[in-house]
Amino acid sequence: MRELLTFEDVAVMPGKAFVEPSEVDLTSRFSKSIEVFIPLVSSPMDTVTDWGMAAILARLGAIGVIHRNMSIEERIAQVKMVKDSIPSPWAEIVRALDKEPLASIYYRMEELGIGGALIFSSGRPIGIVVKPGVDQDYWYSKATGFLRLLREYKPAPLVDGEGRLRVAAAISPFEIGNAKALDEAGADALVVDVAHAHNINVISSLASLSKEISADLVIGNLGTREGVLDVLSKVENAAGLRVGIGSGSICSTAEVTGAFMPTLSAVMEARLALEELGLHGKIPIIADGGIKGPGDVVKAFIAGASTAMSGRLFAGTSESPGLKVRVGAKLFKQYRGMGSRGAIERRYASDRYSAPSKSIEEGVEGLVPYVGSVVNVIAEIVSGVKAGLGYAGATSIESAWKARLAKISEAGRGEARPHDVSF
Ligand code: 5GP
Repeated sequence: MRELLTFEDVAVMPGKAFVEPSEVDLTSRFSKSIEVFIPLVSSPMDTVTDWGMAAILARLGAIGVIHRNMSIEERIAQVKMVKDSIPSPWAEIVRALDKEPLASIYYRMEELGIGGALIFSSGRPIGIVVKPGVDQDYWYSKATGFLRLLREYKPAPLVDGEGRLRVAAAISPFEIGNAKALDEAGADALVVDVAHAHNINVISSLASLSKEISADLVIGNLGTREGVLDVLSKVENAAGLRVGIGSGSICSTAEVTGAFMPTLSAVMEARLALEELGLHGKIPIIADGGIKGPGDVVKAFIAGASTAMSGRLFAGTSESPGLKVRVGAKLFKQYRGMGSRGAIERRYASDRYSAPSKSIEEGVEGLVPYVGSVVNVIAEIVSGVKAGLGYAGATSIESAWKARLAKISEAGRGEARPHDVSF
């Protein structure tokens, strides 16, 4: 019988390093024609990515996929809102010199409706200012995030040929008309959002759809070599592959149906197929689901992925559209699977003609701790991924494909965590 591996089953083998971790280049590809500076993608889920999340991610150099749990008019409006946003990371935070009087910094913050500022001295960020009376925790985490990010990377927004922010939008494989409308609205990529893309009806619909749009078409979710080969033999212009089945944190597919293709194994399968076709590195693999932190992102890259998609990592941030809730003294945000009851009900409310192909829930609804601004989350992942690639001896994501992973034993997993100390 085949053996499937999850992120926790493997470790990154240390390799000879030629550069310091801070010099590792994270530039990668989300899809054939979309280069990203930060190789992270937010999931198309209604508690993760709306236009606000997509805009801030693109301003930082990453990309968001707008969810499809809305009417088509709203989806189009959200794509346009990202395309019309100011394409600079400095739309998020005020920049000031250490010489500028505090009153003047406060005045500019007031005018711009921004509660945080970064203070520069001789071109280097040296501190932050948060305006009293605003949501201070949020602005503190956002400003700190910027400060950390600037140490790792010179923020550059993800823009198209006309200098407008890049954005992706999720589509069902069967909505050709809507896909064309989102394409015309300016979506840079359309991301197929279906639990099992290795399905002859899905593939034949995508074969027609791919000829009708100019945006990059990212196909998923897939989990096997055969699935990737079948899709690529029928769909011309596939511009990316979204892989992983049943591995999401809010996903109950494996429990309900028995089907499961952990993201790590799914990436390795997709890579096998692409290498057979001589297309690995030409059609990017997006590792989707189950990512718990930067270490998993590093493992996904070594396995062959170009970017990592997550819902869980972004759901707890201020910028996600999920509801913020207080439980006792702690703050949380709502996070739910798109196959959960709540998400399915919203889908019917916005599109009562959406036909279910299954009558079972494959996702759960829950809460995740509130973590402040997504800028801080990105900063933390970027520095962890750079450090991880540094251990692997990689200088870039492409060079990480040559690094090695090794299986670890149960005892090894114990030793790999902090142990024998009390906290
Ligand atoms: P996470 O980052 O939470 O581990 O995983 C997010 C991924 O889970 C999404 O990108 C998507 O592929 C998948 N997903 C989202 N909602 C559901 C759901 O309700 N059921 C299943 N099976 N997968 C889901």
